[in-house]
Amino acid sequence: MAATIIDGKRISGEIRVELAEQTAAFKNQYNTVPGLAVIIVGEDPASRVYVRNKHKACAEVGFYSEVHELPADASEEQVIALIDRLNDSKEIHGILVQLPLPGHLDEQKILLRIKPEKDVDAFHPYNVGKIMIGDYNVLPCTPAGVMQLLARSGVSASGKHCVVIGRSNIVGKPMAMLLLHDNGTVTVCHSRTPDLKAQTLQADILVSAVGRAGFVTADMVKPGAVVIDVGINRNAQGKLCGDVDFEAVREVASMITPVPGGVGPMTITMLLQNTLTAAIASM
Ligand code: NAD
Repeated sequence: MAATIIDGKRISGEIRVELAEQTAAFKNQYNTVPGLAVIIVGEDPASRVYVRNKHKACAEVGFYSEVHELPADASEEQVIALIDRLNDSKEIHGILVQLPLPGHLDEQKILLRIKPEKDVDAFHPYNVGKIMIGDYNVLPCTPAGVMQLLARSGVSASGKHCVVIGRSNIVGKPMAMLLLHDNGTVTVCHSRTPDLKAQTLQADILVSAVGRAGFVTADMVKPGAVVIDVGINRNAQGKLCGDVDFEAVREVASMITPVPGGVGPMTITMLLQNTLTAAIASM
């Protein structure tokens, strides 16, 4: 029997309805609304689309949001001065710097400047450390979105073998940590893992965050596994796709996320969640 599709669009919509309700209650209680500031440096078209979507999503749940567009040749001092101003702003509870930044800017230096309480991407080493010890307020958006997809599909990592492919700071590593917090037994695989298939075949929950179309094939998946596809790629025909050979893996897995419409829609929703959490914590 073909796997059940985990519908990220539907789940994301449900969470946004809940967030809108919580935002209305927050507004009633504190007479203020959660505020998000997004900083974008340069003209990268994909980044501009992401920023527009974030701005729209904020309005949808009743947040205030600001978009700060700086020219591609903005200096580090300019970006830092803007962050300092937003760090001190009463209306702003979350600050996000859209990545990638132009090459002349020191990404780490800029991200470190954001106050940890306003770091709604959870990229600041302070928040990364909090996540490591399991005492966190905000979670990195994409792995947090995956955990919501699992939880709202009735899947717990507890007692399961979870295999994460990818070890980036924004997806793979925090993903492994969240599965561990959910009591999964976690294996992290990466580009230097020998015999990847031997590892993935052990997975009750398989998360792929590699960035290569058709990377996870049906023979790499244990029958009945839950397969989460974080990848965003274009196939040979230029169509948006994930890392997983969806049609073939669907016949082996018990549950699977599609691309588009799986993990993708959850990422902005988790950003909204983090902004509301930061606003509540600031009161
Ligand atoms: P990255 O390039 O930083 O990391 C890719 C990881 O894949 C690395 O850790 C690498 O070790 C691993 N890898 C590469 N080749 C491998 C191989 N042959 N075998 C095993 N592992 C291998 O990428 P990232 O930022 O973690 O993103 C991964 C994918 O997820 C990309 O497609 C990205 O677009 C997508 N992504 C999606 C969302 C979303 O909202 N859905 C968010 C962030 C990233």
